[in-house]
Amino acid sequence: MPKTKKNKGNFSVKILKKYCKGCGLCIEVCREEKIEIDPSPNERGICTVRVSREAVCSGCLRCTAICPDGGIEIYRNGHDKKTNDRE
Ligand code: SF4
Ligand code: SF4
Repeated sequence: MPKTKKNKGNFSVKILKKYCKGCGLCIEVCREEKIEIDPSPNERGICTVRVSREAVCSGCLRCTAICPDGGIEIYRNGHDKKTNDRE
């Protein structure tokens, strides 16, 4: 059986569109290419980011660490608590 990265595929990505300003920093740091630009501008005329259906999130939290606006939440599947909670 091929080796798989630990926990890969056990995470869900939520983009908080009201905070996202479409800077693209999260796209640059995501090695899994799980985040992409949403080509449809929102009500403020901004193309925010969206979650790619093809890619799988590894839960590395690079995107949440680099986002200056708290625009991304990562959840372990089956749990309500964000993995990037700092409490
Ligand atoms: S880093 Fe944050 S603000 Fe920038 S595109 Fe990603 S989610 Fe949006
Ligand atoms: S947690 Fe890691 S793999 Fe998942 S979307 Fe963010 S940067 Fe990509």
